This record gives sequence, C-alpha cells and structure tokens, in this order.
Amino acid sequence: MANIMKTSKRQLTFVADLNKCIGCQTCTVACKKLWTTGPGQDYMYWRNVETTPGKGYPKNWQTRGGGYKGGELQKGEVPPMIDYGVPFEFDYSGRLFEGKPGRVRPSPTPRSAPNWDEDQGSGAYPNNHFFYLPRMCNHCTKPACLEACPNDAIYKREQDGIVMIHLDMCKGNKACVKSCPYSKPYYNPQTQKSNKCVGCFPRIEKGIATACVAQCVGRAMHVGFIDDPMSSVNKLVRQWKVALPLHPEYGTEPNVFYVPPVLGPGMEDGVGSVSDQPKIPLSELQGLFGPDVQEVMKMLKMEREKKLKGQPSELMDTLIGRRSADMMLSPLT
Ligand code: SF4
Repeated sequence: MANIMKTSKRQLTFVADLNKCIGCQTCTVACKKLWTTGPGQDYMYWRNVETTPGKGYPKNWQTRGGGYKGGELQKGEVPPMIDYGVPFEFDYSGRLFEGKPGRVRPSPTPRSAPNWDEDQGSGAYPNNHFFYLPRMCNHCTKPACLEACPNDAIYKREQDGIVMIHLDMCKGNKACVKSCPYSKPYYNPQTQKSNKCVGCFPRIEKGIATACVAQCVGRAMHVGFIDDPMSSVNKLVRQWKVALPLHPEYGTEPNVFYVPPVLGPGMEDGVGSVSDQPKIPLSELQGLFGPDVQEVMKMLKMEREKKLKGQPSELMDTLIGRRSADMMLSPLT
C-alpha cells in the first residue's frame, strides 16, 4: 500500500433520486463551467449524467476493473481517449466567412461522447426502459485511487472526507485512473497530471452546496454531512435506508448514494395488459445497487401509496424536497 488511509472526521455525502433526475445535464454544465475549462480538460466531465442501461462515460467504464476484490486492490485499465469522446470543433469562420467549401461539420468526426447512447435504453416495446444515472467521484471511504498512488499525491480531507489530488506531488503515472472502478480520475495530457472532482471544497467550506446540487432543476440531488441527523442525506441513507451505493461490490465504500427508480409494472407482450413484472427487471437494478434494492423498492412503493392516499409520509416529503434548503447542507453544523 502506498498511502496510509486515514478516516475523516466528517463525510460529505450525496444522494441522487433517480425518480427525479430528468437527464437535463444542468449539473454537468455547472460543473464543467466551474472546474474543467483549463488546458487539457476539454474531454473531462467530472460530473456526467448517463442513460442507463447504456455504455456510460467513458464507454464501458463498468468493465475496466479497479477497486478491491477480497480486500485486495485491483489493477484496472486506462480508458482509451476515444471512449471519452474526442472534443470536436465546428469551423464556422472558415465556412461562413472565408468561403471554404463544404458544409459545417464537427471535426474530427465524433465517434463517442458523454451519453453517446442517450435515451436508447434497452428492452423491446412495450417494455423498453431507461433512466438517468448522474455520476461523479464518490469521495469513497476506501478510495482505490488513494491507495494506488505511488507518490502519495492523493489524500482524504479530515474535515469533510473529500478526496483530493495534491497536484505538486502528482507525477501523472495514471495509477489512480487505472484503479478507480468508476473511472473518475482523468489524466490531463497538457499538464501531465491527474485531475478529479474536488467536491466544490471552497463552496463547502462556506456552507454552500456543490455546484451540481445547487443547480439541479429537478431537485433530484441532496448533499450534506452524513453524521448530521437533520440532513436529508442522513435521513435517506441511515434512517430510511432507501439510498444505495453504486456497485457496492467494487469495495471502495462510495459516499454517493442513489434512490433507485420505480417505473411501475411492464406490459404483457402482444396483449397490452399490465404484467406482474416490473418494467425495469429487478436483476438490472441489483446489478447496479446490490441485493438490498428489492427491499428499497418495496419501501418506496409503500410510502408512495400512502402519500397518494393523502396519508403522511416523512420519506416522500424528504424526497419531494419542497424547500431546496432542506436538501443542501442544511442545517450545517
Ligand atoms: Fe477515488 Fe474513484 Fe473513489 Fe473517487 S470514486 S474516491 S476517484 S476511487
């Protein structure tokens, strides 16, 4: 092990409600504009939203290895640049003002991009389905990136558990890129160092929510400290236990959690009547969020029913989030 992992005193935690994310990419753009406009960062989306099922960003990130198996750090692969999508440009001035022949086309011709397979999903009509999966660094409790770095350049902040790269110490050997099973550190070819989500730490230090959460138009995102019993993240993860980590089997103990999507029942093929099977096969959700997803779905359906009947449901009220302040670092102690 290269680094000694210290536990942080507090842990910044995120919850995404997949029943509310509409895939508008506002969080993606908010993050992009704030953090990755520098040299070599064009292709990086620290925050992205991908259609699921789908190949994701970078393409096929779920098959690249990394994380832990039986407590042992696993070596993964560095995704090829084409799987992130090579940034392209439009030669507007050449075509429109300098008389160059041909139509305005992106160059180089795009062969991949974040959310390349947008809204394709899977399944056959009438049971085709998809949902949106917002992704970011999980600021893991056991960060594989930190453990893999041979230069001790990655650390976990004591005050909030945000996982950071110390750029002065990073030598750009990509061990973090290989070892993160979520493909969330990015190698910067211009600076020859790795970059990753910094958890909007300057905002957090002032008690302001991260840009991705603050800008979410669907009020699908929650952020707060997990040890704060009044925070919505504590309620959803610890009290109601309806928010689950993505791929818990990767072993890094993520601190981004997901309320799984409840799409309702599918239809009987060729008959048109409602089937007794869920529209999204349970196995698909279990493959993403682990075996607890079945119980969580039952709980969500039960509380939703209560609300529909006009009965009180603290869980549904927390998920609805009538006051956005209740979903973001509130109350911050
Ligand atoms: Fe490190 Fe990846 Fe975990 Fe982020 S998601 S802390 S980059 S292992």
